[in-house]
Amino acid sequence: MPNCKLACVGAGFSNAVIARHLAELGHEVVVFEERSHVAGNCHTERDSETGVMVHSYGPHIFHTDDEEVWDYVQRWGTFKPYVNRVKATTQGAVYSLPINLHTINQFFGTTLSPAEARRFLAAKADDSIGEPQSFEEQALRFVGRELYEAFFKGYTLKQWGRSPTELPASILKRLPVRFNYDDNYFSHRFQGIPEEGYTILVERILTHPNIEVRLESRFDPGMASTFDHIFYSGPIDSFFENRFGRLGYRTLDFHRETHDGDYQGCAVMNYGDEAVDYTRITEHKHFAPWESHEKTTVYREVSREHQPGDVPYYPVRLLKEQNALAEYVKLARGSRGVSFVGRLGTYRYLDMDVTIREALDAARQAAHHLAEGTPI
Ligand code: UDP
Repeated sequence: MPNCKLACVGAGFSNAVIARHLAELGHEVVVFEERSHVAGNCHTERDSETGVMVHSYGPHIFHTDDEEVWDYVQRWGTFKPYVNRVKATTQGAVYSLPINLHTINQFFGTTLSPAEARRFLAAKADDSIGEPQSFEEQALRFVGRELYEAFFKGYTLKQWGRSPTELPASILKRLPVRFNYDDNYFSHRFQGIPEEGYTILVERILTHPNIEVRLESRFDPGMASTFDHIFYSGPIDSFFENRFGRLGYRTLDFHRETHDGDYQGCAVMNYGDEAVDYTRITEHKHFAPWESHEKTTVYREVSREHQPGDVPYYPVRLLKEQNALAEYVKLARGSRGVSFVGRLGTYRYLDMDVTIREALDAARQAAHHLAEGTPI
């Protein structure tokens, strides 16, 4: 089917990649975006007071092992090398994350070698736990109670609004424990931040004669019949009018402050104590060490339950949501003419690189079906 008319609902990375791929093949794409900007929650903009490039919806550091995805993003802008080194304030001291040999030695006042530290933590681990199911079990099994309580318990309670005993072990599995002094937060081969921010990058992806971007524009389901196919990256539950209930999200409030000079000396400082109500403070100019600014913008980040109208950030995915999600996925699979993509469309905790990988795959598959005239 040559020259199809396609709608992409939502202008984050997923739909930008899909729209571009299909536009380059000659299809016409209309992108609908409710916000006044593209790039979804990766959006960056300069703070009007300090000139600092701010990650408006929280820090986004691009990291991947996927060489094709890494090459793909370079096509649209220069990525500056950036290594995410996160610090944590807890129990009256500052440590480095992810937990590494420096954290362990500093925390316990020891001078352990890698092998000694392994044995030391193994002795603290709770061996009675077989295959950890909950976040807490995962932590107790691998780092023991002291480190768990200092670095994970309070932070996770604040971040997810639930006890780590109710949360899945998979959340903690995102973080490594290192028995060396490597304090790079990520273990991927490629890591960087776009020199000019993410929004311009996504704008470039969407700049093509066959793509029309409509900002501040809601997709009206009544328009569906005028398109051959729809790629939907909004929340899957609202697409189906929440008929199986709302899927839970955490939302974030950012309390913005301006200071002179350097506020905290690093980009991200996590706060492990439960008594401190924010989870972390982000000082955005440190995400662009190639720039210099006299003033600085910081965001104090507070997590809370998502209410209708709030920006959805983290999918909660507890049992209640897992059941409802299964119903929505069944419905989505049976829906002709629409594909659900991205973090909100598939209700998953997705990093940017995985989002782009899935979008490239979805676009190729769609292109194949469009060429064959078979349903996507
Ligand atoms: N986490 C924690 N303490 C920290 C950092 C992370 O307890 O200082 C937990 C928290 O539950 C978080 C999870 O580990 O949701 C995964 O961390 P990651 O940095 O991947 O979270 P993100 O900021 O990407 O949500």
